[in-house]
Amino acid sequence: MTEHLSTWVEIPKDSDFTIYNLPYGIFSTANHSPRAGVAIGEYIVDLFFVCEKGLLEGVINDSTVFNKAFLNDFISLGKDTWSKLRNKLIELLSDSNSKLFQLKSEALVAQKDATMHLPVQIGDYTDFYSSIEHATNVGKMFRDPENALLPNWKHIPVGYHGRSSSIVVSGTDIHRPKGQTKPNDSEVPIFSASRLLDFELEMAFVVGKSTKLGEAVSTKDAEGHIFGMVLFNDWSARDIQKWEYVPLGPFLGKNFGSSMSPWIVTLEALEPFRVDSPKQDPKVLPYLEYEGKKGFDISLEVYIKPENSEETKVCTSNFKYMYWNMAQQLAHHTVNGCNVNVGDVMASGTISGKEKHEFGSMLELSWGGKNTIPLKDGSERKFLQDNDTVIMKGHAQKEEIRVGFGEVRSKILPAK
Ligand code: CA
Repeated sequence: MTEHLSTWVEIPKDSDFTIYNLPYGIFSTANHSPRAGVAIGEYIVDLFFVCEKGLLEGVINDSTVFNKAFLNDFISLGKDTWSKLRNKLIELLSDSNSKLFQLKSEALVAQKDATMHLPVQIGDYTDFYSSIEHATNVGKMFRDPENALLPNWKHIPVGYHGRSSSIVVSGTDIHRPKGQTKPNDSEVPIFSASRLLDFELEMAFVVGKSTKLGEAVSTKDAEGHIFGMVLFNDWSARDIQKWEYVPLGPFLGKNFGSSMSPWIVTLEALEPFRVDSPKQDPKVLPYLEYEGKKGFDISLEVYIKPENSEETKVCTSNFKYMYWNMAQQLAHHTVNGCNVNVGDVMASGTISGKEKHEFGSMLELSWGGKNTIPLKDGSERKFLQDNDTVIMKGHAQKEEIRVGFGEVRSKILPAK
Protein backbone atom coordinates (compact mmCIF):
# COMPACT_ATOMS: atom_id res chain seq x y z
CA MET A 1 0.00 0.00 0.00
CA THR A 2 1.34 3.43 -0.92
CA GLU A 3 1.79 5.74 2.03
CA HIS A 4 -0.20 8.96 2.18
CA LEU A 5 1.65 11.92 0.67
CA SER A 6 0.85 15.61 0.93
CA THR A 7 2.28 18.70 -0.75
CA TRP A 8 2.33 22.46 -0.33
CA VAL A 9 1.48 22.84 -4.04
CA GLU A 10 -2.22 23.35 -4.59
CA ILE A 11 -3.48 20.39 -6.63
CA PRO A 12 -6.80 20.96 -8.42
CA LYS A 13 -9.42 18.24 -7.96
CA ASP A 14 -8.97 15.47 -10.56
CA SER A 15 -5.55 16.79 -11.57
CA ASP A 16 -3.47 14.20 -13.40
CA PHE A 17 -0.33 15.64 -11.85
CA THR A 18 -0.55 14.77 -8.16
CA ILE A 19 2.32 14.28 -5.73
CA TYR A 20 2.05 10.54 -6.51
CA ASN A 21 2.80 11.10 -10.18
CA LEU A 22 5.76 13.47 -10.84
CA PRO A 23 6.15 12.81 -14.59
CA TYR A 24 9.12 14.13 -16.55
CA GLY A 25 9.00 16.42 -19.58
CA ILE A 26 10.94 19.03 -21.54
CA PHE A 27 9.62 22.59 -21.45
CA SER A 28 10.66 26.06 -22.52
CA THR A 29 9.45 29.52 -21.54
CA ALA A 30 9.88 33.05 -22.91
CA ASN A 31 12.98 33.24 -20.70
CA HIS A 32 14.81 30.04 -21.46
CA SER A 33 15.36 27.29 -24.01
CA PRO A 34 14.08 23.70 -23.53
CA ARG A 35 15.07 22.02 -20.25
CA ALA A 36 13.81 19.24 -17.98
CA GLY A 37 10.91 19.59 -15.60
CA VAL A 38 8.46 17.61 -13.49
CA ALA A 39 4.73 18.33 -13.56
CA ILE A 40 2.89 18.99 -10.28
CA GLY A 41 -0.67 20.38 -10.29
CA GLU A 42 -0.75 23.28 -12.74
CA TYR A 43 2.99 23.85 -12.41
CA ILE A 44 6.34 22.50 -13.59
CA VAL A 45 9.26 22.07 -11.23
CA ASP A 46 12.31 23.48 -13.03
CA LEU A 47 14.83 20.69 -12.35
CA PHE A 48 17.80 22.65 -13.68
CA PHE A 49 17.07 25.53 -11.31
CA VAL A 50 16.46 23.21 -8.36
CA CYS A 51 19.70 21.35 -9.03
CA GLU A 52 21.68 24.59 -9.46
CA LYS A 53 20.47 25.65 -6.01
CA GLY A 54 21.96 22.49 -4.56
CA LEU A 55 18.64 20.99 -3.49
CA LEU A 56 19.34 17.69 -5.24
CA GLU A 57 22.70 17.23 -3.57
CA GLY A 58 23.59 13.60 -3.11
CA VAL A 59 21.18 12.55 -5.86
CA ILE A 60 22.30 14.56 -8.89
CA ASN A 61 25.13 17.04 -8.54
CA ASP A 62 25.68 17.84 -12.22
CA SER A 63 22.81 20.12 -13.23
CA THR A 64 23.74 20.02 -16.93
CA VAL A 65 21.74 16.78 -17.44
CA PHE A 66 18.62 18.91 -16.92
CA ASN A 67 19.69 21.79 -19.15
CA LYS A 68 19.16 19.85 -22.36
CA ALA A 69 16.55 19.63 -25.08
CA PHE A 70 15.93 15.94 -24.33
CA LEU A 71 15.75 13.72 -21.24
CA ASN A 72 18.09 11.03 -22.65
CA ASP A 73 21.14 12.02 -20.57
CA PHE A 74 19.12 12.09 -17.37
CA ILE A 75 17.43 8.78 -18.17
CA SER A 76 20.86 7.21 -18.85
CA LEU A 77 21.80 7.78 -15.19
CA GLY A 78 19.73 4.68 -14.42
CA LYS A 79 16.86 3.37 -12.40
CA ASP A 80 18.44 3.93 -8.97
CA THR A 81 18.88 7.61 -9.78
CA TRP A 82 15.28 7.94 -11.09
CA SER A 83 14.06 6.45 -7.85
CA LYS A 84 16.28 8.60 -5.63
CA LEU A 85 15.23 11.74 -7.49
CA ARG A 86 11.56 10.81 -7.11
CA ASN A 87 12.01 10.40 -3.36
CA LYS A 88 13.92 13.67 -3.13
CA LEU A 89 11.20 15.54 -5.04
CA ILE A 90 8.48 14.03 -2.83
CA GLU A 91 10.48 15.26 0.17
CA LEU A 92 10.99 18.78 -1.26
CA LEU A 93 7.33 19.11 -2.25
CA SER A 94 5.94 17.77 1.02
CA ASP A 95 4.07 19.97 3.49
CA SER A 96 6.74 19.69 6.11
CA ASN A 97 9.61 20.89 3.90
CA SER A 98 10.31 24.60 3.30
CA LYS A 99 13.52 24.48 1.22
CA LEU A 100 11.81 24.43 -2.16
CA PHE A 101 8.75 26.34 -0.93
CA GLN A 102 10.96 29.35 -0.22
CA LEU A 103 12.17 29.33 -3.82
CA LYS A 104 8.81 28.55 -5.40
CA SER A 105 8.44 31.80 -7.36
CA GLU A 106 11.50 30.78 -9.39
CA ALA A 107 11.43 26.99 -9.09
CA LEU A 108 7.83 26.54 -10.18
CA VAL A 109 6.72 27.58 -13.67
CA ALA A 110 3.02 27.75 -14.55
CA GLN A 111 2.23 25.18 -17.23
CA LYS A 112 0.19 27.81 -19.07
CA ASP A 113 3.36 29.88 -19.52
CA ALA A 114 5.41 26.96 -20.86
CA THR A 115 5.74 25.22 -24.21
CA MET A 116 6.14 21.47 -24.08
CA HIS A 117 8.55 19.64 -26.39
CA LEU A 118 9.19 16.07 -27.43
CA PRO A 119 10.69 14.69 -24.18
CA VAL A 120 13.22 12.25 -25.64
CA GLN A 121 15.41 11.98 -28.69
CA ILE A 122 13.95 8.87 -30.26
CA GLY A 123 16.49 6.71 -32.06
CA ASP A 124 14.16 3.89 -32.94
CA TYR A 125 10.42 3.38 -32.81
CA THR A 126 8.64 0.04 -32.77
CA ASP A 127 4.89 -0.43 -32.92
CA PHE A 128 3.41 -3.62 -31.54
CA TYR A 129 -0.01 -5.09 -32.24
CA SER A 130 -0.76 -6.49 -28.80
CA SER A 131 -4.51 -6.04 -28.24
CA ILE A 132 -6.35 -9.24 -29.07
CA GLU A 133 -9.61 -7.36 -29.53
CA HIS A 134 -8.04 -4.95 -32.04
CA ALA A 135 -6.19 -7.68 -33.94
CA THR A 136 -9.40 -9.73 -34.09
CA ASN A 137 -11.50 -6.80 -35.30
CA VAL A 138 -8.99 -5.87 -38.02
CA GLY A 139 -8.62 -9.52 -39.06
CA LYS A 140 -12.39 -9.84 -39.42
CA MET A 141 -12.61 -6.74 -41.62
CA PHE A 142 -9.42 -7.05 -43.72
CA ARG A 143 -9.26 -10.82 -44.04
CA ASP A 144 -11.43 -13.72 -42.86
CA PRO A 145 -14.09 -13.35 -40.14
CA GLU A 146 -13.76 -17.08 -39.34
CA ASN A 147 -9.96 -16.95 -38.90
CA ALA A 148 -9.45 -13.37 -37.79
CA LEU A 149 -6.21 -13.98 -35.90
CA LEU A 150 -3.27 -15.17 -37.97
CA PRO A 151 -1.65 -18.42 -36.69
CA ASN A 152 1.35 -16.60 -35.18
CA TRP A 153 -0.58 -14.01 -33.18
CA LYS A 154 -0.91 -15.86 -29.86
CA HIS A 155 2.72 -17.02 -30.00
CA ILE A 156 4.53 -13.79 -30.93
CA PRO A 157 4.05 -10.18 -29.79
CA VAL A 158 3.72 -9.04 -33.41
CA GLY A 159 5.31 -5.69 -34.24
CA TYR A 160 7.03 -3.65 -36.94
CA HIS A 161 9.73 -1.01 -37.05
CA GLY A 162 8.14 2.39 -37.53
CA ARG A 163 9.60 5.78 -38.31
CA SER A 164 10.94 7.78 -35.37
CA SER A 165 11.58 11.02 -37.29
CA SER A 166 7.85 11.70 -37.69
CA ILE A 167 6.91 11.28 -34.03
CA VAL A 168 5.75 14.66 -32.78
CA VAL A 169 4.65 16.06 -29.43
CA SER A 170 1.03 16.81 -28.52
CA GLY A 171 -0.15 20.08 -30.07
CA THR A 172 1.59 19.53 -33.40
CA ASP A 173 -0.85 19.59 -36.31
CA ILE A 174 -0.79 16.77 -38.87
CA HIS A 175 -1.49 17.21 -42.58
CA ARG A 176 -3.81 14.70 -44.19
CA PRO A 177 -1.49 12.41 -46.15
CA LYS A 178 -1.68 11.86 -49.90
CA GLY A 179 -0.82 8.61 -51.53
CA GLN A 180 -1.64 5.65 -53.66
CA THR A 181 -4.85 3.77 -52.97
CA LYS A 182 -6.99 1.32 -54.86
CA PRO A 183 -10.70 1.97 -54.41
CA ASN A 184 -12.89 -1.16 -54.57
CA ASP A 185 -14.65 0.07 -57.73
CA SER A 186 -11.41 0.81 -59.56
CA GLU A 187 -9.33 -1.57 -61.68
CA VAL A 188 -6.15 0.42 -61.10
CA PRO A 189 -4.73 2.44 -58.22
CA ILE A 190 -5.29 6.19 -57.96
CA PHE A 191 -3.35 9.02 -56.32
CA SER A 192 -5.27 11.29 -53.96
CA ALA A 193 -5.52 12.62 -50.42
CA SER A 194 -6.39 9.82 -48.01
CA ARG A 195 -10.14 9.47 -47.59
CA LEU A 196 -9.97 7.08 -44.66
CA LEU A 197 -7.81 8.91 -42.12
CA ASP A 198 -7.88 7.37 -38.65
CA PHE A 199 -6.38 7.57 -35.16
CA GLU A 200 -5.10 4.61 -33.16
CA LEU A 201 -5.42 4.80 -29.38
CA GLU A 202 -2.13 3.50 -28.03
CA MET A 203 0.28 3.88 -25.16
CA ALA A 204 4.04 3.66 -25.54
CA PHE A 205 6.96 2.99 -23.24
CA VAL A 206 10.30 4.76 -23.35
CA VAL A 207 13.40 2.59 -23.07
CA GLY A 208 15.49 3.60 -20.04
CA LYS A 209 18.51 1.31 -20.33
CA SER A 210 20.46 0.42 -23.45
CA THR A 211 21.56 -3.06 -24.45
CA LYS A 212 24.44 -4.23 -26.61
CA LEU A 213 24.06 -6.03 -29.89
CA GLY A 214 23.70 -9.75 -29.16
CA GLU A 215 22.27 -9.21 -25.68
CA ALA A 216 18.75 -10.36 -24.82
CA VAL A 217 16.58 -8.92 -22.03
CA SER A 218 14.53 -11.44 -20.02
CA THR A 219 10.93 -10.77 -19.01
CA LYS A 220 12.26 -10.69 -15.42
CA ASP A 221 14.70 -7.85 -16.17
CA ALA A 222 12.61 -6.06 -18.79
CA GLU A 223 10.95 -3.51 -16.52
CA GLY A 224 14.39 -2.36 -15.38
CA HIS A 225 14.87 -1.23 -18.99
CA ILE A 226 11.68 0.84 -19.06
CA PHE A 227 11.75 4.48 -17.95
CA GLY A 228 8.06 5.27 -18.27
CA MET A 229 4.97 5.57 -20.42
CA VAL A 230 3.13 8.09 -22.58
CA LEU A 231 -0.11 8.31 -24.55
CA PHE A 232 0.43 7.64 -28.22
CA ASN A 233 -1.70 8.32 -31.32
CA ASP A 234 -0.51 6.25 -34.27
CA TRP A 235 -2.20 8.10 -37.13
CA SER A 236 -3.24 5.71 -39.88
CA ALA A 237 -4.45 6.22 -43.45
CA ARG A 238 -6.55 3.09 -43.91
CA ASP A 239 -6.92 3.34 -47.69
CA ILE A 240 -3.16 3.74 -48.22
CA GLN A 241 -2.49 0.99 -45.65
CA LYS A 242 -4.91 -1.46 -47.24
CA TRP A 243 -3.30 -1.22 -50.69
CA GLU A 244 0.35 -1.21 -49.59
CA TYR A 245 0.59 -3.51 -46.57
CA VAL A 246 1.02 -6.88 -48.30
CA PRO A 247 3.59 -8.41 -48.03
CA LEU A 248 5.92 -6.23 -45.92
CA GLY A 249 3.51 -4.43 -43.62
CA PRO A 250 2.77 -0.79 -42.77
CA PHE A 251 4.67 1.93 -44.64
CA LEU A 252 3.29 5.25 -45.97
CA GLY A 253 -0.10 4.66 -44.37
CA LYS A 254 1.59 5.12 -41.00
CA ASN A 255 4.84 7.09 -41.26
CA PHE A 256 3.38 10.54 -42.00
CA GLY A 257 3.05 11.21 -38.26
CA SER A 258 2.56 9.78 -34.78
CA SER A 259 1.75 11.96 -31.78
CA MET A 260 2.78 11.49 -28.16
CA SER A 261 1.91 13.17 -24.87
CA PRO A 262 4.67 15.37 -23.43
CA TRP A 263 4.87 13.93 -19.89
CA ILE A 264 6.57 10.58 -19.28
CA VAL A 265 4.94 8.85 -16.32
CA THR A 266 7.47 6.57 -14.62
CA LEU A 267 6.79 2.90 -13.95
CA GLU A 268 7.43 3.65 -10.28
CA ALA A 269 4.46 6.05 -10.24
CA LEU A 270 2.32 3.34 -11.85
CA GLU A 271 3.19 0.65 -9.24
CA PRO A 272 -0.14 0.96 -7.35
CA PHE A 273 -2.06 0.17 -10.52
CA ARG A 274 -0.59 -3.22 -11.41
CA VAL A 275 -3.13 -5.86 -12.43
CA ASP A 276 -3.06 -9.32 -13.96
CA SER A 277 -2.91 -9.41 -17.75
CA PRO A 278 -5.37 -11.56 -19.73
CA LYS A 279 -4.65 -15.28 -19.46
CA GLN A 280 -2.54 -16.48 -22.39
CA ASP A 281 -3.71 -19.67 -24.04
CA PRO A 282 -1.92 -21.49 -25.66
CA LYS A 283 1.08 -21.39 -23.37
CA VAL A 284 3.87 -19.17 -24.66
CA LEU A 285 7.47 -20.24 -25.26
CA PRO A 286 9.71 -20.11 -22.15
CA TYR A 287 11.44 -16.82 -23.12
CA LEU A 288 8.01 -15.13 -23.08
CA GLU A 289 6.85 -16.58 -19.75
CA TYR A 290 6.67 -14.10 -16.91
CA GLU A 291 5.78 -13.86 -13.24
CA GLY A 292 3.70 -11.34 -11.35
CA LYS A 293 1.33 -8.60 -12.37
CA LYS A 294 2.57 -7.04 -15.57
CA GLY A 295 -0.60 -5.25 -16.64
CA PHE A 296 -1.59 -1.72 -15.58
CA ASP A 297 -5.11 -0.45 -14.96
CA ILE A 298 -5.07 2.81 -16.93
CA SER A 299 -8.37 4.31 -18.14
CA LEU A 300 -8.17 5.73 -21.64
CA GLU A 301 -10.49 8.03 -23.59
CA VAL A 302 -10.61 9.45 -27.10
CA TYR A 303 -12.47 12.62 -28.10
CA ILE A 304 -13.11 14.19 -31.50
CA LYS A 305 -13.50 17.94 -31.62
CA PRO A 306 -14.71 19.42 -34.92
CA GLU A 307 -13.49 22.95 -35.75
CA ASN A 308 -15.26 25.59 -33.61
CA SER A 309 -17.36 22.99 -31.84
CA GLU A 310 -17.36 21.02 -28.60
CA GLU A 311 -15.69 17.64 -28.27
CA THR A 312 -17.45 14.26 -28.21
CA LYS A 313 -16.10 11.20 -26.45
CA VAL A 314 -15.98 8.39 -29.01
CA CYS A 315 -14.05 5.69 -27.13
CA THR A 316 -13.38 4.50 -23.58
CA SER A 317 -10.76 1.77 -23.20
CA ASN A 318 -8.12 0.51 -20.77
CA PHE A 319 -4.46 -0.45 -21.00
CA LYS A 320 -5.14 -3.55 -18.87
CA TYR A 321 -6.77 -5.24 -21.89
CA MET A 322 -3.37 -5.76 -23.55
CA TYR A 323 -2.83 -9.47 -24.29
CA TRP A 324 0.96 -9.05 -24.49
CA ASN A 325 2.57 -6.98 -21.71
CA MET A 326 5.54 -4.61 -22.00
CA ALA A 327 7.98 -7.08 -20.43
CA GLN A 328 7.08 -9.67 -23.07
CA GLN A 329 7.33 -7.08 -25.85
CA LEU A 330 10.85 -6.05 -24.80
CA ALA A 331 11.96 -9.66 -24.23
CA HIS A 332 10.70 -10.57 -27.69
CA HIS A 333 12.26 -7.49 -29.29
CA THR A 334 15.72 -8.35 -27.97
CA VAL A 335 15.60 -12.18 -28.03
CA ASN A 336 17.43 -12.28 -31.36
CA GLY A 337 20.15 -9.94 -30.10
CA CYS A 338 18.60 -6.72 -31.44
CA ASN A 339 19.96 -3.86 -29.33
CA VAL A 340 17.79 -1.12 -27.84
CA ASN A 341 18.81 2.36 -26.77
CA VAL A 342 17.74 4.90 -24.17
CA GLY A 343 14.96 6.97 -25.69
CA ASP A 344 13.64 4.27 -28.00
CA VAL A 345 9.85 4.31 -28.11
CA MET A 346 7.80 1.13 -28.21
CA ALA A 347 4.09 1.55 -28.79
CA SER A 348 1.49 -0.96 -27.67
CA GLY A 349 -0.67 -1.19 -30.76
CA THR A 350 -4.26 -0.01 -30.76
CA ILE A 351 -5.88 -0.69 -27.39
CA SER A 352 -9.40 -1.99 -27.90
CA GLY A 353 -11.75 -3.67 -25.43
CA LYS A 354 -14.52 -6.14 -26.06
CA GLU A 355 -17.41 -3.64 -26.10
CA LYS A 356 -18.17 -1.49 -29.12
CA HIS A 357 -17.53 1.76 -27.24
CA GLU A 358 -14.08 0.39 -26.32
CA PHE A 359 -12.78 0.16 -29.88
CA GLY A 360 -9.59 2.24 -30.23
CA SER A 361 -9.85 3.37 -33.86
CA MET A 362 -12.44 4.78 -36.25
CA LEU A 363 -11.90 1.71 -38.43
CA GLU A 364 -13.37 -0.41 -35.64
CA LEU A 365 -15.87 2.14 -34.28
CA SER A 366 -17.42 2.58 -37.75
CA TRP A 367 -16.74 -1.09 -38.57
CA GLY A 368 -14.88 -0.36 -41.77
CA GLY A 369 -17.11 2.62 -42.62
CA LYS A 370 -20.42 0.74 -42.36
CA ASN A 371 -21.63 2.68 -39.32
CA THR A 372 -21.59 6.37 -38.48
CA ILE A 373 -20.50 7.88 -35.18
CA PRO A 374 -22.71 10.82 -34.11
CA LEU A 375 -21.00 13.91 -32.68
CA LYS A 376 -22.54 16.47 -30.32
CA ASP A 377 -22.66 19.19 -32.99
CA GLY A 378 -25.05 17.08 -35.07
CA SER A 379 -22.44 15.93 -37.58
CA GLU A 380 -21.37 12.33 -38.10
CA ARG A 381 -18.07 10.60 -38.74
CA LYS A 382 -16.90 7.35 -40.26
CA PHE A 383 -13.31 8.53 -40.46
CA LEU A 384 -11.63 11.86 -39.60
CA GLN A 385 -12.39 15.08 -41.45
CA ASP A 386 -10.08 18.04 -42.05
CA ASN A 387 -9.77 20.35 -39.03
CA ASP A 388 -10.93 17.64 -36.61
CA THR A 389 -8.90 17.63 -33.42
CA VAL A 390 -8.32 14.23 -31.80
CA ILE A 391 -7.70 14.23 -28.05
CA MET A 392 -6.59 11.19 -26.07
CA LYS A 393 -6.53 11.17 -22.29
CA GLY A 394 -5.44 8.58 -19.75
CA HIS A 395 -5.28 8.21 -15.99
CA ALA A 396 -5.09 5.61 -13.26
CA GLN A 397 -6.89 6.02 -9.96
CA LYS A 398 -7.10 4.07 -6.73
CA GLU A 399 -8.83 5.85 -3.86
CA GLU A 400 -6.98 9.17 -3.36
CA ILE A 401 -4.05 8.16 -5.55
CA ARG A 402 -4.44 9.54 -9.04
CA VAL A 403 -1.73 9.33 -11.66
CA GLY A 404 -2.57 10.77 -15.08
CA PHE A 405 -0.92 11.30 -18.42
CA GLY A 406 -2.50 14.60 -19.41
CA GLU A 407 -3.38 14.39 -23.06
CA VAL A 408 -2.16 14.01 -26.60
CA ARG A 409 -4.03 16.45 -28.83
CA SER A 410 -3.55 17.10 -32.53
CA LYS A 411 -5.50 18.64 -35.35
CA ILE A 412 -5.83 17.28 -38.86
CA LEU A 413 -5.02 19.94 -41.46
CA PRO A 414 -6.06 19.60 -45.11
CA ALA A 415 -3.65 17.80 -47.44
CA LYS A 416 -0.79 20.05 -48.58
CA1 CA B 1 -0.52 1.07 -34.53
